[in-house]
Amino acid sequence: MFFCRKEPELVFGYSEDRSVHLQRNTATINSKMIREIIAKSILRRHKRIDSWFLSSYAINLYRGCTHNCVYCDGRDEKYQVEGEFGRDIAIKTNALELLDKELDPKRKRKPFDNGFFMVCGGVSDSYQPFEKKYRLSRNTLELLFKYGHPVHMLTKSTLIERDLELLQRINMQNKAIVSFSFSSVDDKISKLVEPGVSSPSQRLATIKKFKEAGIMCGIYLMPVIPFVTDTYEMIDQTVAKAKGAGADFVIFSGMTLKKGRQKAHYMKFLNQYFPELIPRYVQIYPDGNPWGAPKSDYAFSIEKIFDNVATNHGMPKRIPSTVFRPFVSRSELVTLILEQLDYLVKLKGKKSPYGHAAYSLSNIDKPIETLSTGELHDMRGIGPVTAKFIREIIETGRCRFYENML
Ligand code: SF4
Repeated sequence: MFFCRKEPELVFGYSEDRSVHLQRNTATINSKMIREIIAKSILRRHKRIDSWFLSSYAINLYRGCTHNCVYCDGRDEKYQVEGEFGRDIAIKTNALELLDKELDPKRKRKPFDNGFFMVCGGVSDSYQPFEKKYRLSRNTLELLFKYGHPVHMLTKSTLIERDLELLQRINMQNKAIVSFSFSSVDDKISKLVEPGVSSPSQRLATIKKFKEAGIMCGIYLMPVIPFVTDTYEMIDQTVAKAKGAGADFVIFSGMTLKKGRQKAHYMKFLNQYFPELIPRYVQIYPDGNPWGAPKSDYAFSIEKIFDNVATNHGMPKRIPSTVFRPFVSRSELVTLILEQLDYLVKLKGKKSPYGHAAYSLSNIDKPIETLSTGELHDMRGIGPVTAKFIREIIETGRCRFYENML
């Protein structure tokens, strides 16, 4: 589902769980091969709260995705999705039984971490058509409501409307964020590159409904398609429509193309629909990059467009700190704001110490409030200016420089 110039496993903690799965049953429905499997565990804990999604835990109920987006990096061999991607799906039929145990606080020695629970996988969408029958996402939300956890959903499917009322209850009890991913808002292009999903117009209409229900909504504009949906006009149109629908933030990323199954599939698509673009792709996607990232000058050129567009529309480029401030400790607040600030500064083409500072602080074993100025200055990435921002966040919960950049 996600695409980033950085390594997804590191950025999002979204590598699939590597628990052993036992196959139970197979069936073919509408030419899709459905495999029922038994998972050993469901809940995946991140080392720390993820600043892109605010999640501390990921819940992957399915493996594989019939939405079959041409650019999906779930095809990458490292995720070990078995069978033909887009056709073959594995369903963790014992997921709810496991989750009920894993979420039960009586069985835990330590309380759950702060942060959101993300019902979504790196190689699947939680609202694929067979969710209507299996209802694993729906029942997972019921469990998260029962145990009182905040939830962040990310999908490309309007089927999530079925769970609107439940998400509204979760939102009132703890907090829910509902996000949609887009590669553009052009319905015709979407039909080509995302053949199995609801059109962008339908997704935007669904966002309006969630907003009317009082739920925070975001757009993950990832990936924009090089030389197809990465122009100023198309990015501007997407951000404008996101704003029109009431979206609270837009998070942007370009496309990765990892050598192997993902790249081979995408190049086949390109050859069929946009053969004239192949030389340009060969130029910006060298084979040697392990993350499949495009060359940095291309990546920076589209990020610059996004930065200008989002700034012009007054659209936050990260989930604003007002959302996570009530949920997190002061140490987590500082780390999250610094990580977001790192992104925002680099988006302007400037060097940033804030990522190093966030990393240094995430490894200390005492509350940040107890650090002396000398201890702060001894850490990598923390000079006088960063130290001032850290003090401001500790004392006020805010960082005005970050808020202006957002
Ligand atoms: S919705 Fe598209 S991008 Fe997301 S997991 Fe499914 S196929 Fe991949």
